[in-house]
Order: sequence, then C-alpha cells, then structure tokens
Amino acid sequence: MTVFTSQPAVDTGLGTEEATLALTWTRSIEWDTDDWRKGAACRDTDPDLFFPIGTTGQAIDQIEAARSVCVECDVRDACLEFALATNQESGVWGGTSEEERRKLRKAWLAARRRRSA
Ligand code: SF4
Repeated sequence: MTVFTSQPAVDTGLGTEEATLALTWTRSIEWDTDDWRKGAACRDTDPDLFFPIGTTGQAIDQIEAARSVCVECDVRDACLEFALATNQESGVWGGTSEEERRKLRKAWLAARRRRSA
C-alpha cells in the first residue's frame, strides 16, 4: 500500500532533478480505521487524557492514566500499528507514549525494510 508519494525537486549539484519518494508498507495486522475504532476502550473517555501537553509534571499522570485505559483495550495492537504506520507523533496510542513510539517506529521501519528486501 502506498501511503504518500511526492516528487520533490532535488539539486544533485549537477542540476535539479525530479526524485520520487514513496512511503510504503505491508500491514501485518488488517485494520480498518472505522472498524478497529469501534472497539476502542477510549471511545467514551476524555480525548484530552490521551493528548497531554508535554512530558513532565501533570502530563506524566495523564500518560499513565491513558495507559491504564489502553491496557484493557481489545484493539491495542491495531491502534499501535496504525499509529506507527501513519506516524502519529502526538498523544498516547496503543499504550505507548510519544517518546516510546519514536523508538518503536525506528525498529518497526527497520523490520519492514528487512522484510521487503
Ligand atoms: S489502545 Fe489506547 S489509544 Fe488505542 S484505541 Fe485502545 S484505548 Fe484508545
């Protein structure tokens, strides 16, 4: 599945050339955004809980409270994979914080590259 394709102009030093950039992935979990969200444990919670401002102080309590909802969620894997695949940088997704997801995404992208090589 192609997620995003662009053709930015690239200056190679020998003139400007068109390059094609595409982010692609093969889902390891079949998710349909409408479908998995129906099973989300956070559907009836305050969305602000999942999008704390910052990563210190009160935000730490908020992140932990959001995680406690995620622990009980039946669609946690699909939620996390969606967040990784669509590069959700903000908030708690699939029981992970923004910082955790940045680290996970690097490993997730590397694993995808290895599988497609
Ligand atoms: S894993 Fe957490 S953020 Fe994702 S749908 Fe479930 S409760 Fe919501």
